[in-house]
Amino acid sequence: MNLHALTNADLHCHSTVSDGACEPEQLAARARAGGVELWALTDHDEVGGVARARAAARAEGLAFLSGVEISVSFAGQVVHIVGLGFDEHDAQLREGLAATRGGREPRAREMAAGLAAVGIRGAYEGALKFVGNPELISRTHFARWLVEAGHCRDVPEVFRRFLTEGKPGFVPHRWASLSDALRWIHGAGGVAVIAHPARYRFTANEELALLTDFKGHGGQAVEVVTGSHSEQDAARFTEVALEFGLLASRGSDFHAPGESRTELGALPHLSGRLSPVWLALQDRVQFPS
Ligand code: AMP
Ligand code: MN
Ligand code: MN
Ligand code: MN
Repeated sequence: MNLHALTNADLHCHSTVSDGACEPEQLAARARAGGVELWALTDHDEVGGVARARAAARAEGLAFLSGVEISVSFAGQVVHIVGLGFDEHDAQLREGLAATRGGREPRAREMAAGLAAVGIRGAYEGALKFVGNPELISRTHFARWLVEAGHCRDVPEVFRRFLTEGKPGFVPHRWASLSDALRWIHGAGGVAVIAHPARYRFTANEELALLTDFKGHGGQAVEVVTGSHSEQDAARFTEVALEFGLLASRGSDFHAPGESRTELGALPHLSGRLSPVWLALQDRVQFPS
C-alpha cells in the first residue's frame, strides 16, 4: 500500500472501551465497509482497545495506527488531543491516561447529584448500564440513559439541556494539562493532533495561544476534516494548518450507529494543499499483508 496515494484515512473513532457503542472488531468491519484504507481507534483517555483494534484491522485488511484522544484543560475549556502512532505499552503514557481517567468516577457522582437536584433520580446507576469500561464513565453514557428514560428525545438535546456549562448535570473538571498530554504522546513515539478545533468556543487570542503552545510543546498536526466540522470549518482550518505549518488529519469521530452524523470513512477528502499526518507516521503504520 502506498500511503501517498491513500485518501480514505479515518483516524478518529470510539469503541465500548470509552463512549462508543461498538466493539473494536465491529468498528473495524464498519471501517472496511465504509471504504477506509487506514484506520485508528482513538478512545477517550484509554488505550485498552488498541490491541483488539490492531488485530481486527489485520483481519479486515486495513492499514492501522494506534490512537487515543486525551482530555485536556486549556483556557477554561476542554480541548481534545488525539495521539497517533505511539507505543501503547509505554509506561508514562499509561500512567498519565490512568490518572486522567481517575477523576471520572467522582465527577459522575456529582453529575448525578446535580441531576437529582432537578428531579432526575438514578442517573448514576442509569448511566452505568451503558458503560463498557467502568473507568470511563462519560457524559455520553448519561446522555444515552436520559434518552432511554424519556427525559429527552435525543443525545444532542440532553447535552443542550443538562450536560453543558451552566446546566444541572454539568460538573467543571480539571483534565490533563496540554504539556503533559503532549509529553505522554511524544514519549511513546507518537504524533499529537488537535482534535475538532472548530468545536471550541475560544476567542481569537485563546485560539492563537492554543496553536502556539501546542506547537511550542512539539505538537505537529490538526484535525481539518472531522464529523463535527462543516465545509467552512474545514476550509478555515486548512488555512490554519498551512499558516502554522501543521500536518493535517481526517477522522469521523464515529461513536454509535444512529447517533453519529458521520459514518466511518464517509468524509470529504483533505485538500491537496495539505500534508497528511499519516505521511509522517509511515514507519508506525501496520500494513495489511
Ligand atoms: P466527557 O469526556 O465525559 O466530558 O464526554 C465528552 C463526550 O461527550 C464527547 O467525546 C462527545 O462524545 C460527547 N459530546 C460532547 N458534546 C456533545 C454534544 N453537544 N452532543 C452530543 N455529544 C456530545
Ligand atoms: Mn466521545
Ligand atoms: Mn473529542
Ligand atoms: Mn472523539
